[in-house]
Amino acid sequence: MQREQDRQAKLRPYVEILSFWGESIEDYLFVLDVEQQQFYFSSCIWEKYPLPFLDISFGIEDWISVIDVRDRNRVAEKLEEIKNGQTDQISLEHRMIDRKGVSVWVNCIGKCVSYEEGKPSIIAGSISENVVSKKIDQLTGLQNQTVLEKIFQDAFQKNETGYFLMLGIDDFKNVNDKYGRKYGDEQLKKLAEIIDKNLDYDSQLYRLDGDKFGANLVGYTKDSAKAFYDRIKTDFSIQTYSTVSAGAVGYPMDVNNYHNLYQYAEDALNQSKQQGKNKLSFFSLDNYKGHLFFIDLKEEILESIKNNFEGFYIYYQPVVKNEDGTLVKSEALMRWRSKQYGEISPVVFIPILEQTGLILEAGKWILEQATKQCCQWREFLPNFRMNINLSYIQLKDKRLMEIVFDALKKANLPGSAIILEVTESIQLQDYSYFNLLFYQLNKKGIQISIDDFGTGYSSLGYLKELRVDEIKIDRCFVKSIQEGGYNSHLIKNMIELAHSVNIRVCVEGVETIEERTVLQKLSPDVIQGYYFGKPETPDVFYEKFITKAKSGQPIVDDGERKVVSEKNNLLQKNSKNYLNLLDELDDIIYVCDVETYELYYINKLGQKLTGVYDYTGKKCYEVFQREEGGCSDCERECLEQGTFHTKIKKEKNVEFLIKEKLITWNGKPARLQIVADNGIKI
Ligand code: C2E
Ligand code: CA
Ligand code: CA
Repeated sequence: MQREQDRQAKLRPYVEILSFWGESIEDYLFVLDVEQQQFYFSSCIWEKYPLPFLDISFGIEDWISVIDVRDRNRVAEKLEEIKNGQTDQISLEHRMIDRKGVSVWVNCIGKCVSYEEGKPSIIAGSISENVVSKKIDQLTGLQNQTVLEKIFQDAFQKNETGYFLMLGIDDFKNVNDKYGRKYGDEQLKKLAEIIDKNLDYDSQLYRLDGDKFGANLVGYTKDSAKAFYDRIKTDFSIQTYSTVSAGAVGYPMDVNNYHNLYQYAEDALNQSKQQGKNKLSFFSLDNYKGHLFFIDLKEEILESIKNNFEGFYIYYQPVVKNEDGTLVKSEALMRWRSKQYGEISPVVFIPILEQTGLILEAGKWILEQATKQCCQWREFLPNFRMNINLSYIQLKDKRLMEIVFDALKKANLPGSAIILEVTESIQLQDYSYFNLLFYQLNKKGIQISIDDFGTGYSSLGYLKELRVDEIKIDRCFVKSIQEGGYNSHLIKNMIELAHSVNIRVCVEGVETIEERTVLQKLSPDVIQGYYFGKPETPDVFYEKFITKAKSGQPIVDDGERKVVSEKNNLLQKNSKNYLNLLDELDDIIYVCDVETYELYYINKLGQKLTGVYDYTGKKCYEVFQREEGGCSDCERECLEQGTFHTKIKKEKNVEFLIKEKLITWNGKPARLQIVADNGIKI
């Protein structure tokens, strides 16, 4: 009894101070009677939170009942620790549910002001909404990035495991622009609500920059993180008709510090966005390094361009007439050498130029350089032309025509000297825009070519709708093309269709003699590919191709020979068959060297009648006349190439017709003789 009275006496002054201070500050002050498990509060807390207000005090159960269920365990555990004397302080951030049912983040701090038998008996402290307000996002009521950082510092220290998911609404900027900020805010709130609802009590959601949220999924596995995302994705699309993408990082497997965790998650989220959105990507270190490489290149390219296109140069690839392989034009292909990484493929750096908009400057540069080059080569070949690639971004640039015309003027070149290549892509479908542009370019003689033809969505549509002068059939149709095969039919049809509407056809990427041979028969107008020449520096291009073209030669010297030799190869392959045919005849057929009389070939009948089956190294007169030193009646001097010399020979009551002529046998002059039984018995 005495003890109780003492305790009350100790408590009283604190409770009195409470009512005094409680009216002058915004925070809620409290005193906790640890033994009695009673809270005493400065007056107004029950106005906001649904606590009993019979008295200024209430029990710990009442207090716990206004704490958000997700945080109840943490708070109850702390109060239990105080009760057991394990700690004498409180410092917690947790949520409370107010009278409107809204979850509010508060900061609860408290300190022991009186001990009994070494254990805390009175704790004095405050509940503050203001302290945490800096850490709370006003729109969604979620904790923000500042808190997240602290949470992860602790998590890494305690070796916790789980997944961190960064989520973002797809095309959120468009949503804001199209429907207004208020609507955008509603979407953010909706997403926060959906994610929050799907979280278990150990996990936590945070609002990050812009439209991004971070969910710390404590103890989750890769599969459960994926299942979690799938639920959000479905709920969000059903409720808002919008989509959400996410990037996930596993800790500590992927990362062991907060800084990297955030970057990695952002990288994985970007990956999802780049791969078409509405999906989840898991972080991969290789991809991340690749992206860093991209960022490095981006910075270096910018620097190069600023330094007057340092590191940029142009290669030129020949384009030849299909008929005879003579040079008609070249394609200008941009090249860039990085100081850090060396030669970089245009397939890598062109997209960077496009993403950064630098393609406008680089495109202008290549137009100026390539037209200048074209002008120089036209001194030797007055009809020489230049194909120059344009990116879609350049096509949409209002200044394009001005830039092209300026370049032509500077180079003193007519419009007809250049052909602008535009890549077949979905974006070309704005037919009226492009037709007007192409018409205006055409008026100056500039032609338009559709690059990579056949690889897009609506190749045939372009032929019908766009006023273009040339199509370039992509290499994918050419690779390993075979006569009569599927691709050769396809190319044949494309060529016929293009020709029917007066569009020129270039076939690209011709690498081998086989491809060249098959294509030649399909009659495209021009061809381009490694078979004729790789892209080269201007000097090499001049040496290799212009010099030949000046004298009207095809640029691949051995082009025709290769074709012929290829035919010979085929013949050789088939020669066994042909020789077998000769074996079926009733005539004796043989071939021998003109000078040495050495036998090259005797057909089956000849072998049978002479009885000589192995004739190698033998001479014709040895085998047929059984004479040494030559035939008395040999008439090889009369032999000619092209026409047969004929004579009749009578032998053993039989009349033979002998036909002889000069032929080429394995590259050497040879004598072909056919001995036919005339059917006349004498
Ligand atoms: P593209 O316009 O289709 O250019 C043809 C590409 O095929 C070139 O690659 C060329 O070297 C390659 N090629 C030519 N013949 C053959 C062959 O027989 N076999 C194979 N396998 N390939 C062949 P490159 O120079 O690496 O250029 C790649 C792409 O980069 C170009 O494809 C084009 O889309 C883009 N590009 C290059 N220069 C420019 C430019 O100045 N502006 C724009 N916008 N894009 C460019
Ligand atoms: Ca091209
Ligand atoms: Ca192409």
